[in-house]
Amino acid sequence: MLRPVASHAAALPSPLTDPQGRRLEYLRLAVTDLCNLRCRYCMPEEGVRRVDHADVLSFEESLRLAGVFCGLGVRKIRITGGEPLVRRGIVDFMAALSALPTKPEVLLTTNGLLLEQHLDDLVAAGLKRVNLSLDSLDPDNWRRITRRDGFDAVRRVVDTVLARGLGLKINVVALRGINDHELGDFVRLTRQLPATVRFIEAMPFSGSSGEFHAPLAGAEILDRLRAEFDLETVADTRGVDRLFRIDGHAGRVGVIEGHTRSFCSACNRLRVDTRGRLRTCLYGQPVLDLQELVRSGRTDEDLIAAIGAAVARRHVDGHAAALGTAPGTSMASIGG
Ligand code: SAM
Ligand code: SF4
Repeated sequence: MLRPVASHAAALPSPLTDPQGRRLEYLRLAVTDLCNLRCRYCMPEEGVRRVDHADVLSFEESLRLAGVFCGLGVRKIRITGGEPLVRRGIVDFMAALSALPTKPEVLLTTNGLLLEQHLDDLVAAGLKRVNLSLDSLDPDNWRRITRRDGFDAVRRVVDTVLARGLGLKINVVALRGINDHELGDFVRLTRQLPATVRFIEAMPFSGSSGEFHAPLAGAEILDRLRAEFDLETVADTRGVDRLFRIDGHAGRVGVIEGHTRSFCSACNRLRVDTRGRLRTCLYGQPVLDLQELVRSGRTDEDLIAAIGAAVARRHVDGHAAALGTAPGTSMASIGG
């Protein structure tokens, strides 16, 4: 059984703050590179190269790291991947994270294929909100994008999650010429459903070095939505999404300008990938090998010092972080 870990993060100010004054309170923790879908914008048909089992952080190691990050002020941990629900033991791991001494909020990003069968256990483990990736409401188009079957299970879980009273955000990667004719359909979904639908700009993380076509920008998405709907800005949003409400709709809509990178000044995220490498920016390279530190017997104080030094070198924004790096890594390897 996984046990909560104590952390001793007295050596650095909490929360961790980067040179731009951004407080890093949100950790995205990838638990696998593997996935049961093959979304075209995320990975090639053959999938991503499998990380050697020995290189994947064990749940015990991840739990220790999470305890250290929580001691440094992280309040929110999002479990991501690849598809997190394909990893055995994931529910117990999430329960152990929720039970850490600082009681972080533990969240899940999933493609939904396996969600229904795990939902009761996840709720028992403390899950209150889900981010679900759903790129089309048309079964044939969904299959074209994901290159797999399973649309019905994913569409069904939207209703199941809401019926359980969980918060739901539906993430749609907006793809020109592929699903952009469905933008309005997604917005109409929020008439009845108290969910937030967010359109994400495609980013150059498809796992191949092939040409990356200019994405449908957030501004263009909003122009197109405004032609049909009266969008009213939700004033109190912070973070990476711009949110809107529509009179008479139970849910909300938003855009995430991940490619434009207009939100970097508010970015409070750290990422640890399946191998235990820390990224301080989605667009940058890994900046610290936490696996190596953990496996070479370093103390929590050593980890804290190394994390602090990495954060002190954090780039000012995603454009600066991307300088000199080649796009092409799969989002499933970075952890979304
Ligand atoms: N498998 C889970 C899922 O799809 O929700 C979690 C991992 S997935 C890598 C996390 C998020 O990254 C999803 O919302 C997915 O749509 C998004 N994503 C993947 N590749 C992307 C890309 N090239 N551009 C923008 N978003 C991407
Ligand atoms: Fe899998 Fe998520 Fe990537 Fe799609 S976006 S291939 S579901 S990891």
